[in-house]
Amino acid sequence: MQATEEDLANVAPIKVVGDKENKLTSLPTTKIECPKCGHDEAMWWFLQTRSGDEPPTQFYRCMKCNHTWRSYS
Ligand SMILES: [Zn+2]
Repeated sequence: MQATEEDLANVAPIKVVGDKENKLTSLPTTKIECPKCGHDEAMWWFLQTRSGDEPPTQFYRCMKCNHTWRSYS
């Protein structure tokens, strides 16, 4: 089953607290271009699918606009 953009937002392991001083530093970042705004840095993490039969999916979240997407590599 394909995950929708809403699903991606729901599975994200972090929540934006809306305060710039509470920076989200618990996740690593990498240089990758955001497909939405073109920013070149995003947080990333792995998430195991429910079935457990498939390899973990890598997710990215833009540091600028919080757009979240998954890696299809
Ligand atoms: Zn972005």
